[in-house]
Amino acid sequence: MVEKTVAVLPGDGIGPEIMTQGLRVLSAVAEKYGHEFKYHPALVGGVAYERGGHPLPEKTIKTCRDSDAIYFGAVGGPKWANLPAELTPEKGALLPLRKIFDLYANLRPAVIFGPLADAASLRQDRLTRGLDILIIRELTGGIYFGNGKLSSPILLDSEYNAKGENTADVMVYSEPEIRRIAEVACNAAMKRNRKLTSVDKANVLDSSKLWRKIVSEYVERRYPEVDLNHLYVDNAAMQIATNPGQFDVIVTGNMFGDILSDLASAITGSIGMLPSASLNESGFGLYEPVHGSAPDIAGKEIANPLAQILSGAMMLRHSFNLEEEAKDIERAVENVLDEGYRTRDLGGGTKFPFASTSEMGRRVVDNIRN
Ligand code: NAD
Repeated sequence: MVEKTVAVLPGDGIGPEIMTQGLRVLSAVAEKYGHEFKYHPALVGGVAYERGGHPLPEKTIKTCRDSDAIYFGAVGGPKWANLPAELTPEKGALLPLRKIFDLYANLRPAVIFGPLADAASLRQDRLTRGLDILIIRELTGGIYFGNGKLSSPILLDSEYNAKGENTADVMVYSEPEIRRIAEVACNAAMKRNRKLTSVDKANVLDSSKLWRKIVSEYVERRYPEVDLNHLYVDNAAMQIATNPGQFDVIVTGNMFGDILSDLASAITGSIGMLPSASLNESGFGLYEPVHGSAPDIAGKEIANPLAQILSGAMMLRHSFNLEEEAKDIERAVENVLDEGYRTRDLGGGTKFPFASTSEMGRRVVDNIRN
């Protein structure tokens, strides 16, 4: 029996609706396997700003600190988009949460569930080997965090300098930062098919040259069983878009990971299906769907709760070490899709029988119980 405490942060828009289904599924798993999960709800995002003037209240941070994992819905919406940056739900809550808990490893599986293969945006013949990629993105370093004090060469020339503003962003990576993300990637590869692709731009960027050197040395020394190859980011994008079946685990820096994980998500066909995990060195993590708060469909009971539910499975796997239970959730999701039920984003109500947000959750729960 496992006892765990979960900080539950539903957030804005469809966050609360899909979170309700995520918790239903976790409770069904707890009951089936005899575990105890305690849920501690806390405010985050626009709703927290409305109640107390800040998107990430101190009380919420404390709730997270006192928990074994953070289960997160989504934040944001047009109502809060024009607040000062530090008070917007995304910059004022999500980025600080990553920083406070040092969530440096972002894991985003891009999986096409068998019954959804026809919804994928790639031609079927390019998916003959299926799609099951795990993208691991370094989340707290690189160009999104480097402080820039440089000028572009053209603007250093006084003739051009007179003509316009200039600014810079700096891509910084250090050996320990690269080593710790390499460790996460190798560990994940060992649990899968032991194939790791490291993506960089080492033909142009010094930070990428260091990245490539450290990843190579680390794998050679610590994980010789892992089959490592390197790709430049432009080639990686092309390969993901044309022959994604060749990949198992991909590891890359913050900006390249941002772009490639969205590309990989897009080819799966539905944003409502994609979970994610952001982890720190001790295995503590924040688990959330890849999509946002979808204000356009909030409160209509038509949101797809499966990304939230699958994020719960990732929490069981990565923070609680409950692999069998995680697989049980994934199997239940696949079964429900196999039975033909779909939310609207997956063609429910047109090509397939329509299932509302809560009906989808209920069907997953029933599947876990049986
Ligand atoms: P979005 O992901 O919320 O929505 C994009 C489109 O996908 C919309 O048409 C939406 O209806 C649809 N969609 C998203 N999730 C769905 C689901 N589960 N089921 C069915 N359809 C779904 O992206 P957006 O519209 O660009 O952003 C809306 C808000 O969310 C913004 O404030 C944005 O900043 C925020 N956001 C938050 C996060 C986060 O909390 N991690 C991530 C991305 C965007």
